[in-house]
Amino acid sequence: MKIQFLGANGVVTGSKTLLTYNGHRILVDCGLFQGPKEIRDQNWAPFPDAKSIDAVILTHAHIDHSGFLPRLVKEGFRGRVYSTEATQDLCKIMLPDSAYLQEEDAFFANKTKYSHHDLALPLYTHEDAEKALKLFYALPWQKWTELYPGFSFRFIRAGHILGSSLAQISFQKENETKILTFSGDLGNGRSFIIHEPEYISETDYLVMEATYGDRVQDKTNPIEEIGEIIQKVIGRGGTLIIPAFAVGRTQEILYIIHQLEKNGRISKVPVYLDSPMAQNVTQLYLHHQDELKTEVKGDHVFSVLNPYQFHEVTSPDDSMLLCMNTDPKVVISAAGMLTGGRILHHLKAKLPDEKSGVLFVGYQAQGTKGLLLKNGLRQIRIHHQNVDVEAEIFSIESLSAHADSNDIIDWMRHLRRKPNQVYLNHGETNPLFALKYRIENELQFQVTIPGPGQEFILD
Ligand SMILES: [Zn+2]
Repeated sequence: MKIQFLGANGVVTGSKTLLTYNGHRILVDCGLFQGPKEIRDQNWAPFPDAKSIDAVILTHAHIDHSGFLPRLVKEGFRGRVYSTEATQDLCKIMLPDSAYLQEEDAFFANKTKYSHHDLALPLYTHEDAEKALKLFYALPWQKWTELYPGFSFRFIRAGHILGSSLAQISFQKENETKILTFSGDLGNGRSFIIHEPEYISETDYLVMEATYGDRVQDKTNPIEEIGEIIQKVIGRGGTLIIPAFAVGRTQEILYIIHQLEKNGRISKVPVYLDSPMAQNVTQLYLHHQDELKTEVKGDHVFSVLNPYQFHEVTSPDDSMLLCMNTDPKVVISAAGMLTGGRILHHLKAKLPDEKSGVLFVGYQAQGTKGLLLKNGLRQIRIHHQNVDVEAEIFSIESLSAHADSNDIIDWMRHLRRKPNQVYLNHGETNPLFALKYRIENELQFQVTIPGPGQEFILD
C-alpha cells in the first residue's frame, strides 16, 4: 500500500490522497484548491493519469473535498465515486453550483480580458459536473465494502456536516490486516443539529486534519452572543450581514435565531436567506433525519430551522433589491469566506454604513477577503471598487464545524493502541506544527507532515 498526498499540504483546500494497492489506484477525496489565485492555479495542473484512477472514496461534500471531481471526469476518470447518501445528495447541489462559478469566472475573465490566455476556459462545465454525479454510489454507515481482494472500506460518522464521514480502509499486508483511517474533516460534537462524531478504537495509520490544530475554540454558548449582536445592530437600525457556508453554518444560524426568538431573548426580526443553494441544502435536512441530533428530529426540524419572519430570496433581482433595502434586518448569504457570490453585493452596500454590522461565524482561510475584513482592514476592494469599512465587524469562533486542538487530542485518546504513523494534512503551517507537537508530547504517537506530492509506503 502506497499513499501519496496530492493536496491540502500546508493549506486547507484541495484534499486529494492517492492510494495504490496491488496496482489499483484509489483516490480519497477529490477537492478543489480554493482561496487566492496562487493556490487556485494548482487546479489547472494536469492530474497524473486520471483515466487510471479506479475509484474515489469521498469523505464529505464540501467543495475543498469534492469539487475537483468534475475536472477528474473531464480528464478521463470513469470509475465509481463512493460516499454516504447525504454526501451524494449534497453533491447534487454543490457540484453543479461549483461548475456554474467556474463558468462565470471564465465569462468575466473574457469580458474584462484580465486573463493571460487568449480565451479563458472554465476549469469544468455543468455537463462535467452532471457526468461526475452519474458515477456516485451511496453506501450505508459502518458497512464494510470490499473493493478489491484484500481491500475494503467503510464510512463512520465524522459529525462535521450532513453526511460527513471518516473513511476507514482495511488492507492486507503480508497476511496481516492493517487499518488506515482518514479523519476527513472532523466535527466537534457542538453542533446544535448534526450528530456527534464517532470514535474509533484502533487504526494502524491515521491521516488527520489539522485546520484548528493550533487553537482551542471559545466554548461559550454562541446563542447568547449572537443574540446580543443582533440586538445591538438591529437596535440602531442597521443590517447584520452574516456570511455563511451554505452547508452547515447557515442551518445552525437559522436554528439559533429561532431559539432566541422562541425564548423571547430577541424581538422577532426579518431574516433573509439570500442563497438559493443554502435553501436547497436546508431541504435535505428534512430528508436525512438520521444525520441529526435526537432533539431536532421529526416534524420539529422544519420549524426549528425557520425564524418567525423568514424570507428566502431566490431571484438575482430580488437579491439586488434586498441590497438597497435599508430597513433593520439580518441577511445570511454566501460565500462564507467572501470568495464570490451574492454576499459581495450586500457588503458593497452595507460596509460603508456605520449602523450595520458583519458577523463572521466560520473559518476564514489565508488570502481571503473574509480574513482581511475579520482582521480589521478598513478598506476592501469589491468588484474593482474600493469600499470603506464603517460597519462594525463581529466574529465568533464557537460555531466552528471543525474539531479544535483539544477535540482532536481527545478523539485520538480513544484509540486503544498507538498507530504506527499519523500523517497531518489539511492545515496551514502553524496549526500543523502545533498539532504535531501536541500529539508527540501528549500521546507519544509518531507524526509526519507530508509535503506536496510526497509518497510513503505503509509498512
Ligand atoms: Zn469540510
